Amino acid sequence: MSTVSTDHDTMKYDDVMAVFEPVIGLETHVELGTNSKMFCSCPTAFGAEPNTQVCPVCLGMPGSLPVVNRMAVESTIRMGLALNCSIAPWCRFARKNYFYPDMPKDYQISQYDEPLCFDGYLDVLVDTDDGPRLFRVEIERVHMEEDTGKLTHAGGATGRIHGADYSLVDYNRAGIPLIEIVTKPIAGTGALAPAVAKAYVTELRDLMRSLEVSDVRMEEGSLRCDVNVSLNRPGDEWGTRSETKNVNSLRSVERAVHSEIERQGALLESGGRVIQETRHFHEDTGRSTSGRSKEQAEDYRYFPEPDLVPVAASAEWIEELRGTLPELPSLKRARLQLEWGIGEHELATIVNAGALELVESAVAAGVTPDAARKWWTGELLRVANDREVELADLPVTSAQIRRVEALVADGSLNDKLARQVFDGIISGEGDVDDVIAGRGLAIVSDDSSLIAAIDEALAAQPDVADKIRGGKVQAAGAIVGAVMKATRGQADAAKVRALLLERLGVVE
Ligand code: ADP
Ligand code: MG
Ligand code: ZN
Repeated sequence: MSTVSTDHDTMKYDDVMAVFEPVIGLETHVELGTNSKMFCSCPTAFGAEPNTQVCPVCLGMPGSLPVVNRMAVESTIRMGLALNCSIAPWCRFARKNYFYPDMPKDYQISQYDEPLCFDGYLDVLVDTDDGPRLFRVEIERVHMEEDTGKLTHAGGATGRIHGADYSLVDYNRAGIPLIEIVTKPIAGTGALAPAVAKAYVTELRDLMRSLEVSDVRMEEGSLRCDVNVSLNRPGDEWGTRSETKNVNSLRSVERAVHSEIERQGALLESGGRVIQETRHFHEDTGRSTSGRSKEQAEDYRYFPEPDLVPVAASAEWIEELRGTLPELPSLKRARLQLEWGIGEHELATIVNAGALELVESAVAAGVTPDAARKWWTGELLRVANDREVELADLPVTSAQIRRVEALVADGSLNDKLARQVFDGIISGEGDVDDVIAGRGLAIVSDDSSLIAAIDEALAAQPDVADKIRGGKVQAAGAIVGAVMKATRGQADAAKVRALLLERLGVVE
């Protein structure tokens, strides 16, 4: 793997926050889950042989004409409604002109000054040290456009165009419907800016999944974010923003905001000026490098697309679509909180861990809400962070959590052993029972071996033994601890304690 050296200094995050206020803005592109492309009937399935899902329209052949995909318009309107937007009664597509081989027409059909949906908002909850805080993220616009083809730069070390010997192009993706959701500038988050950005994209993803407009497979690149960041001193006007392109995971959204704040802080503190440019985020270093200086809208020579009729959604159609909106994630969370009997803070922890769906499916599989929450936001989250993967990508199933929970409940495992079971599953040692057998994990429950261990511990700490005999029951902890250590954690601590007190003839 290539390592990309950074071209900039950074300043510690907290030091930046002591001097500056951040403003962020997010542009999110999502591939819609329609069966056919935006302006032709080519299929959209992921992973086909390159250039097999193409036709004269999406290859930009002379004389071919686009036709709008009704499903894509419906999905965009439903998304707009869910984001509390106004829906334009009449709007047009626009040509965005540029020459680059990823678009065979030499222009992209998009929307410009007449987006289909505009002026909405999305409320997001961010977990803070002082409990959950609600932020209202205002939505500027939601519009439709088509995706570009995919370029693969071969022969170089970095996979990028610089240093490559040649480039390959796959037009299967060209023309897949996208929606772009653009926020208004988000100010007033202070140091929580990275967390707000992540919470917003998470909420957006969940919203799209609940509407079934996209299944948002991030690992396939079906959701991409451009992250805008600027800094200003309190009381000053907003600063110049940079735009970090194609940030492809929830975790990266948070990291990209964080690192850009550190970069701009250092730059501004040393008397420099932020230039309006695009930057590229590098997963491996968590930092970005400069891309190109930002082109202006004029550069694209936008004009209304002459080959397409305007989209004019009637009020009845919009109301009909409103009627198809499912339970939205924010309401669903309120319901789950009641059903699971948990507090707002606990729910925020689940949501912020990106674990809501995982906990839900565990509960649906028969795990108690408490156990599902405990494992997904505790040990499993820790492992995911350690391994720098998304929680949902851990190879742990609801059925496995249920099995572990049952074994803990009947005393065959304790929490410590249960953690080892998950470690084994994640390390590919098989299912729950395979790991238990393979690692020899079982609570030592036979009394005689526990009593032997207790006697040994008492002999090693006679003074403690005397204290307990003399009625200082609190001192029992030291002996229980020694027995747990001797059995490498494979004993039930409560049982050891009971046996110990019985052995010393102490009644509590
Ligand atoms: P462009 O096409 O140039 O990227 P857009 O209007 O599509 O412009 O998106 C710009 C994004 O940057 C929006 O999300 C907007 O809210 C955000 N933004 C605008 N000004 C600032 C600023 N000063 N600091 C941070 N973000 C900003
Ligand atoms: Mg942009
Ligand atoms: Zn086509």
